[in-house]
Amino acid sequence: MGEHKTIRYSDTNYYLLRAKGGYLLIDAGWNGKMSVFLRKMYEAGIDPREVNYIMVTHHHHDHAALVNELRTIMGAKLILHKKQVDLLKNGNTEIAKTKQYNLSLKLLDRALRLFIRISYSPIFTNDTDIVIGDDGREVLKEIGINGVIVDTPGHSADSITLITDDGKAYCGDAAMNIFGVKPYPIEAEDYIVVKESWARIISSGAKILFPSHGKEFSVDELR
Ligand SMILES: [Zn+2]
Repeated sequence: MGEHKTIRYSDTNYYLLRAKGGYLLIDAGWNGKMSVFLRKMYEAGIDPREVNYIMVTHHHHDHAALVNELRTIMGAKLILHKKQVDLLKNGNTEIAKTKQYNLSLKLLDRALRLFIRISYSPIFTNDTDIVIGDDGREVLKEIGINGVIVDTPGHSADSITLITDDGKAYCGDAAMNIFGVKPYPIEAEDYIVVKESWARIISSGAKILFPSHGKEFSVDELR
């Protein structure tokens, strides 16, 4: 354990952790960018069929839109948190409650919404998928990863963070490092709840955050 590979495009990071028989992919986006995703995988030296498990940190289109396409090619199982299941079935980014960090980001968001497709093909679980309702330690151990899943809402209600026992936190959008904003996510449903989630990330033993947007940084920046 320990190392991971990163796929990066459209200002978004996708992490591949070594898991039993291959890799666990954390997040699978964006709409219509399947060919880019696959090209980046090959560039990273990974055959998509080596990915045995897919997890999403939350249901947003830049994290979940390619789940159906990728799981078919990879032959991968989904590992979801139970609170994600209904949102993934909607196949749509829930943005009604989302607020931006500042005014210029709000204006940027309104402009980008004209171009970004936030709906995607609904994601349903099947019998071989794993839906977790606890800290996920047993399930992760079963696939060769020592760590836990921590509930980290605020950016979205269904956001989760995978924290390995050696202190790497794959936090999705619970924290970001993009457009000059760090560690706050540039948008969130509730920034108070984001901070409560940071407290859980810290108390769960995280040392380095690997956000979906921007470069990694020390957990000390959350304090
Ligand atoms: Zn998001």
